[in-house]
Amino acid sequence: MALQGVRIHITGIVQGVGFRPFVYGLADRLALNGWVRNTSAGVDIEVDGAQEDLDSFIDSLQEEAPPLSRIDSFQVDWMPANGFSAFEIVHSEGKAGDFIPISPDVSICPDCLGELFDPDDRRYRYPFINCTNCGPRFTIIKDIPYDRPKTTMCSFEMCPACEAEYGDPLDRRFHAQPVACPDCGPHVWLEAPNNTSLENIDQEAAIQAARKSLAEGKIVAIKGLGGFHLACDATNVQAVDELRQRKLRVDKPFALMMPSLEVVLEHCLVTPAEQEQLLSRQRPIVLLKKCPGSTIAPQVAINQSSMGVMLPYTPLHYLLLEPESGIPKCLVMTSGNLSEEPIATGNDEALQRLGDLADEFLVHNRDIHIRCDDSVIRILDSDTTEVSANKSVFEEALYPLRRARGFAPNPIQLQWEMPHMLATGPELKNTFCLTRGQYAFISHHIGDLENYETLQAFEEGIRHYQRLFRIEPQAIAYDLHPDYLATRYALERIHNESLPSVAVQHHHAHLAACLADNQHPGDRPVIGLCLDGTGYGEDGAIWGGEILMGDYREYQRLYHLAYIPLPGGDKAIREPWRTALAHLKSAGLPWDPDLPPVIFANQMTDSGWDPLDLLQQQIKSRVNSPPTSSVGRLFDAAAALLGVRQTINYEAQAAIELESLVDPDEIGIYPFAIDDQILDPAPLLKALLNDLRAGIPVPTLAARFHNTLADLMRRTCLQIRTESEINEVALSGGVWKNMVLLKKSVALLRKDGFKIYLHHQVPANDGGIALGQAAIALHKLNL
Ligand SMILES: [Zn+2]
Ligand SMILES: [Zn+2]
Repeated sequence: MALQGVRIHITGIVQGVGFRPFVYGLADRLALNGWVRNTSAGVDIEVDGAQEDLDSFIDSLQEEAPPLSRIDSFQVDWMPANGFSAFEIVHSEGKAGDFIPISPDVSICPDCLGELFDPDDRRYRYPFINCTNCGPRFTIIKDIPYDRPKTTMCSFEMCPACEAEYGDPLDRRFHAQPVACPDCGPHVWLEAPNNTSLENIDQEAAIQAARKSLAEGKIVAIKGLGGFHLACDATNVQAVDELRQRKLRVDKPFALMMPSLEVVLEHCLVTPAEQEQLLSRQRPIVLLKKCPGSTIAPQVAINQSSMGVMLPYTPLHYLLLEPESGIPKCLVMTSGNLSEEPIATGNDEALQRLGDLADEFLVHNRDIHIRCDDSVIRILDSDTTEVSANKSVFEEALYPLRRARGFAPNPIQLQWEMPHMLATGPELKNTFCLTRGQYAFISHHIGDLENYETLQAFEEGIRHYQRLFRIEPQAIAYDLHPDYLATRYALERIHNESLPSVAVQHHHAHLAACLADNQHPGDRPVIGLCLDGTGYGEDGAIWGGEILMGDYREYQRLYHLAYIPLPGGDKAIREPWRTALAHLKSAGLPWDPDLPPVIFANQMTDSGWDPLDLLQQQIKSRVNSPPTSSVGRLFDAAAALLGVRQTINYEAQAAIELESLVDPDEIGIYPFAIDDQILDPAPLLKALLNDLRAGIPVPTLAARFHNTLADLMRRTCLQIRTESEINEVALSGGVWKNMVLLKKSVALLRKDGFKIYLHHQVPANDGGIALGQAAIALHKLNL
């Protein structure tokens, strides 16, 4: 029978994920001869065989590819047979400047989990068990090519048994760079904050001691994949309270870790799509609806209808949460940091920074090279999800809120060839974006750039991504806001490196991010419903209620919320009562003494000044009262007027608590004036106060408020469609993390036949901005 030859070139995440042994095994199965090798840009394969066998080889390569791999391109070239006599894995050297995507860290695989609890396995109960299909990647890689010496595993010399597995192409641990065992790998131990008393407690004893401490209500700092967690028993009210006090976290919810889906079902209502995400190898924190009967301490998620839950993702987590009576089944697992600082990663750093926060430290000696927080996602319900031809329900229902571990540094694939560019992103929830080829490498969540540590993490992160993906920015995009630290960083580099640059308006970036997220070609303008808290406007005002029409190149501001003064600036953001009264003033409504924000102000007796007088003057004189069109602030005002909350201690708290009160069956709508290009909430506020005084319950009013905004979105979109025939709508901005508003708006717009774009790969909040900045820079600059 005549033999045929074929050469296959594959790009994507195909290195460090067991791709070559997979190819080797496949060739073995089909008795094909030839070779496979890593190249600097992917994997190359050449084989001889009968046509029929080659066809099934090509099919299986794509259909059975290893779980962590991601094939971005697959090129097949037919040729005459070469006359190979065996199949081998050929060694190869990378070329300078070439790059390849790197796999994110992923949760322990079922095979390793089986071995972890198998008394006959040599890695029985070893907390660092991993293989080619699972374990740490991104957080331990210092440089490429991805090889053990360039990871934080370099200090551990493999024992003969590990070495043999590492070298065997048919072994699950072939070239698994973090491979280790109790004889040769990292280990855990327990330390006290003063690192004296516990020095002899290590390995299994350390894990058992930590479990006992958690059962006693202590707070334990636990070193994970991308940083430290602070853990305590989630059903222990005192422990959770104590953690809140030590962490200086008043109300912001804590994330939970539960040992299994069965336990999650005891505390939360979980849909099949949510189950799938909980069990996915990314293992994100999934926001789930609380069950009425849950025994989780209410202090974990105060005044909220949902909780953030994740399943264990490292072997150490599984050992910590191993079911046993008297040991906590549900743990609070919150970032190991004080307040808004970055999560601690190094042992000494953690002992120093978390010394006053934790009673004990469960640490280990596998270093974390780059910090990476847990990712947070929501799953859209089936009504809100639109299934398109080229995406799975799984992808369409994913609604990221914080993109980090498990997702970063997976690049977003774009439909353009991108020059080397940097987009420095926003101030809050910062992520940056570096581009190259068809890829946008969105960084893991960096955080709020308002303290020195976070700014450092931002600068180190950019350096690290540039090195890992061999990117030398030829242009820089940044936010229009002159005082953002990310903007200052950009301006300094633009100056020092004489680079072309683009300043991007915040809400235009939101619109572009949503389009790029959905692979929109950008050949026609779309409507952008850009609703958020704060974004610097072209006129110097604080924008945030913006109905735009635009593409990647330009935009028009068709409608916006009427400006109100924000008395006290940032102070008003922390004190919604101020915004409420400013809104009343702008709407021509009196500050009656029976209104909750007025009652609150009158109770403030600390200054000797009348707070209402002060506020009045501030609004009148416009001193430190920037004009804003923010929808986030309108939510604050409504929450304060309804007596939900007058001050907040974490971002968007008032809006989140207002949302959780909504009566789902209420369909009432308030009027909202559309005057030329101005959306004026005065009629809404007037009606809201009338209803409040009439004694209508707050959940009804909260629902009507949400209904009104959804209806307003529909009305503006219909108006725009009448004038411009545009039928596509992109929803972006932090306000869209409000599920009630999102569901109602999507339902109304879809009923009217609009094509809707929601975020699925990057967050709708400012965590997605950098992607939009990069897309706009590409279209504005001629590079
Ligand atoms: Zn594994
Ligand atoms: Zn070993």
